[in-house]
Amino acid sequence: MRREEAAGNSSLSQSRCEIEKTPLVEGECQRPGEVHYKGMLLVCGPHAALLELEDRAEAVLGSVFRMDEWLQENGSSGADEEYLGRIRHEREEALAALRLIRVQIRSARKEVLQ
Ligand SMILES: [Zn+2]
Repeated sequence: MRREEAAGNSSLSQSRCEIEKTPLVEGECQRPGEVHYKGMLLVCGPHAALLELEDRAEAVLGSVFRMDEWLQENGSSGADEEYLGRIRHEREEALAALRLIRVQIRSARKEVLQ
């Protein structure tokens, strides 16, 4: 194998965005692939940004659910008030972050369609 082939630069630059291989989006994307998403799919910049935001939203939502569960189990059992307050505050902050991410997702979706 020649050195240039091992580096793989020439073939990589010609690959197309592979967003259609995710369950997220229907249809194909004509932009060139730029970023390796999760080390697997090669996607274009706008799709990479969108996927990352969706991931972050899911992670934050997951933490809100976990806090809800914890509050349900411990909220009325005389748990440390200070600690309870801190969890409630963290939950509020997570929800605020989630709202912000939703706004970013909306504009990322528009970007993808351009
Ligand atoms: Zn794309």
